[in-house]
Amino acid sequence: MAEHIFSMEFFPPKTAEGATKLRETRRQLAQLNPRFFSVTFGAGGSTRERTLETVLEIQGEGLGAAPHLSCIGSTEESIREILQTYKAHGIRHIVALRGDLPSGVADPGEFRYANELVAFIRKETGDWFEIEVAAYPEMHPQARNYQQDLLNFKRKVEAGANAAITQYFFNADAYFQFRDECLALAIDIPIVPGIMPISNYGQLARFSTMCGAEIPRWLAKKLESYYDDSASIKAFGLDFMTQLCDRLLTNDAPGLHFYTLNQAGLTSTLWQRLGLSR
Ligand code: FAD
Repeated sequence: MAEHIFSMEFFPPKTAEGATKLRETRRQLAQLNPRFFSVTFGAGGSTRERTLETVLEIQGEGLGAAPHLSCIGSTEESIREILQTYKAHGIRHIVALRGDLPSGVADPGEFRYANELVAFIRKETGDWFEIEVAAYPEMHPQARNYQQDLLNFKRKVEAGANAAITQYFFNADAYFQFRDECLALAIDIPIVPGIMPISNYGQLARFSTMCGAEIPRWLAKKLESYYDDSASIKAFGLDFMTQLCDRLLTNDAPGLHFYTLNQAGLTSTLWQRLGLSR
């Protein structure tokens, strides 16, 4: 069986204090030896410099790093410039996304969907980059329907994506169903589940509504019952996520991508509980 692909996601810190904290987080998580760390890219390019700086810092420590790149609201020229900068710095791995227009911005720019970005990256840079794209086992919230969303996912693969990372989910069956439907459409790239450790329920509920990730009713009720007892939320969340990840890996998920929110604690505890090797 192929080796599992483990990766971990950060957002680029806004302050010097945040950057120091992220270095410490990274020091702890690097001991787990994930294949790469990815760094998000703010809507409309708002973190362009900070994403690059963070990726270069990670790369400078001898670790695998992949910047995210979102295209909505951008021109071809600005994306070309970013790709050239990445290439000049020896970056070879990228997470290619459409992104969402910042509120108040109406002009979608020269790219409408992520498949156009993937095609553009391939046209401009050939096979230089390994390209990851996003996948949505519970359907992207703006998709017309489930089937269309699947076909739109396939467009990204046909445009040249090498692998996908999913939106987080709490229902393993949604992932298995999605994976089976992809296979039926001859989509055979690795589709790595995105894992969101549970810490702050209020924040998680708000974010899940926005991004279309379902918190099953029983799980929401259970988490709500702890009110603001964050230690119990984390303890229960860890038990739940350990079972979810275990079920995914046992049933042939190709790996796991951890949304760390720049914290090491929950990801490394989950890692230990799963008995993953370094
Ligand atoms: P697309 O694949 O383009 O899909 C968007 C919608 O359009 C879907 O509903 C799809 O069905 C539809 N669609 C796609 N192609 C077509 C087509 N050709 N014709 C008609 N309809 C189409 N956002 C950020 O801003 N920065 C980040 O760093 C970031 N990182 C992310 C990492 C992961 C792993 C994930 C899962 C999401 C991330 N996001 C990030 C969020 C992402 O940008 C949003 O979910 C965005 O709304 C969709 O991006 P996408 O690349 O999936 O878009």
